[in-house]
Amino acid sequence: MSESSDPDPAALTDEEWRERLTDEEYRILRESGTEARFSGEYVDHLPDDGEYRCAGCGTVLFDAETKYESGCGWPAFYAAEEESVTTTLDTSHGMRRTEVRCASCDSHLGHVFDDGPEPTGKRFCINSVAMEFDEQ
Ligand SMILES: [Zn+2]
Repeated sequence: MSESSDPDPAALTDEEWRERLTDEEYRILRESGTEARFSGEYVDHLPDDGEYRCAGCGTVLFDAETKYESGCGWPAFYAAEEESVTTTLDTSHGMRRTEVRCASCDSHLGHVFDDGPEPTGKRFCINSVAMEFDEQ
């Protein structure tokens, strides 16, 4: 679904998002949904090389080198590409979590926690549906 040639994904209307995304992508990216644990296609996906792009706009979000097996049921990374994501406090569902969004198109990607491995100590817990793997 990535259309990286799109000039300004941040300007898309809700209707345009519905057209360009599948129902599942729309639910997660635009309505801050979460895919079921261990259901995502990238949970056990540990390539040596490549990058993960935003399913909404094609921006490179994570490098394959930063992906690790967290056991949490979603793809996990210890770092995001610089300035590719934004983080905000999310207090929904009675929890205090830090939400991760694509900096380019403002799509919801997942959450980031402080229990990741070195060197960052971060765990970016990201929905597979929100990403597309690119082998480069
Ligand atoms: Zn995006």
